[in-house]
Amino acid sequence: MDNRKKLLLHTCCGTCGAWIPQMLAADFVVDLFYFNPNIHPREEYARRLADVEKVASALQLRLIADEYDPRVWFQAVRGLIQEPEGGKRCPVCFEMRLRRTAEYAKEHGYDCFATTLTIGRNKRADVINPIGEKLAREYGVEFLARDFKKQAGFEKSCRHSDAFGVVRQNYCGCVYSRLERLNKK
Ligand code: SF4
Repeated sequence: MDNRKKLLLHTCCGTCGAWIPQMLAADFVVDLFYFNPNIHPREEYARRLADVEKVASALQLRLIADEYDPRVWFQAVRGLIQEPEGGKRCPVCFEMRLRRTAEYAKEHGYDCFATTLTIGRNKRADVINPIGEKLAREYGVEFLARDFKKQAGFEKSCRHSDAFGVVRQNYCGCVYSRLERLNKK
């Protein structure tokens, strides 16, 4: 009998999704959940999804790709477009993605939910985890609060994603982070 908990893992891209499910596999049955309306443009959204599909297929994981409607994201962050990456726009973006993950987890009988986001070097676990914990209370589904970048998590993830042939992106995801990166060149 499999006593592992059912975990819905919000996955932002193939790089971040390559190692975490393997690391969690001893304790959880992991399904990947791709909900990222922040990603711009649509071609980049599709490219990152194709990479997550590659990872899911290699690891034999179920992948749920939710609806892509960037208008909802733009509506949520209106008034915050001047914010830099890591500023006030990001918690809004995190919460939107985690809220849908929590909602889906609740509707489909998962024991818990989590996100790959904390593996990013610029993603603060002390910002992301309280959002997940708040949503856990709201939806009545446990949130797995972790800082996946610790103990060289990011480096491990890169190694695994390279082995799967995943392309590493050079900006966080939204149009503003893309412009910020282009302006730094
Ligand atoms: S920089 Fe990244 S986390 Fe912040 S709002 Fe843009 S996509 Fe979301």
